[in-house]
Amino acid sequence: MTETLNISVKKIAQSKISQVDFKNIQFGKTYSDHMFTADYIDGEWKNARIEPYEMMHISPASPALHYGISVFEGLKAFKTADGVVNIFRADKNFERLNVSAERMCMPRLPADLYYEGLKALLEIDSEWVPDVEGTSLYIRPFIFSNDDYIGIRPSLNFKFMIITCPVGAYYAKPVKVKIEDHYVRAVEGGSGYCKTGCNYGPAIYPAKLAQDKGYDQLVWTDGKEHKYIEESGTMNIMFVIDGKLITPALGDTILNGITRNSVLAIARDWGMEVEERKVEVAEVVAAAREGKLEEAFGAGTAATIAHIQQIGYKDEDFELPPVENRKFSNKVLAELDNMKLGKIEDRFNWITKI
Ligand SMILES: *Cc1c(COP(=O)(O)O)cnc(C)c1O
Repeated sequence: MTETLNISVKKIAQSKISQVDFKNIQFGKTYSDHMFTADYIDGEWKNARIEPYEMMHISPASPALHYGISVFEGLKAFKTADGVVNIFRADKNFERLNVSAERMCMPRLPADLYYEGLKALLEIDSEWVPDVEGTSLYIRPFIFSNDDYIGIRPSLNFKFMIITCPVGAYYAKPVKVKIEDHYVRAVEGGSGYCKTGCNYGPAIYPAKLAQDKGYDQLVWTDGKEHKYIEESGTMNIMFVIDGKLITPALGDTILNGITRNSVLAIARDWGMEVEERKVEVAEVVAAAREGKLEEAFGAGTAATIAHIQQIGYKDEDFELPPVENRKFSNKVLAELDNMKLGKIEDRFNWITKI
């Protein structure tokens, strides 16, 4: 990261940090003191700046509001025992942000804007990276259309912003999931591989229907036949059957998760057999029925690993083995946590120190 960009800085008059109870933070409710913004105007990114986190003005006609012309990323910063701020695989989030941006007819975000914006923001708000065990600073970079024009066309003006919020220790309770056989999250030719706003809003309703029936999350299946498993909620999904790690192969209906990629890399490094392929609902249900489904979990930045305790399909619910007995998912979770906190060697070169 070289310092070439001219980022103007307007500091907050009085930090809000003393009002935060870091032992008790609700996800997404508390934002740190500053935010980073750059504008895309007349074909150029300009006005890179750090300002106090506050409400902002946008046009009521903005296509971001009307047509979901927005893309986002999610990553985390961690504070190590010696006070260093580590970020995990931020280059992957940068690549993916541009994959999403292209799909939404947005200009490419230059690398210096992303890296220097991120670095400057984390430096000014470094106190906000909590050091309580299990906590982190969630980082949300996003780009949205800032046109003042309600017609449907590729937008001309955009904002790139980064906001951050401290997140509490995430003691993920094992989840109950339902395999969805009517609603879909993504279809071939659609935008499921992108983190764009328009993929997430419509998924809330079917998830709510499942929650009303006592499930925590949905397992999404393919949009054509509901025959293949795709993802779980907003996480990638993985299974251990006969000692093999099995996960749906990437494609345009599946988000290319960085946690997914990291878990697979570690599994391969440990010599575990890994299969990335189409995963049939029938196969998973049969394995669960026969007691051969050793482990099932979601993989994503928020929870890292979310153990699945129960899988519902049609009118049946299948209970999975106790979480304490799950060798792989517990071990890989500990490995990732230790890497992020600098407790073990960064053998894949995934950590950047700010
Ligand atoms: C963000 C996301 C994931 C997980 O990606 P990570 O990079 O591991 O956080 C998986 N599926 C969906 C739909 C997502 O939005």
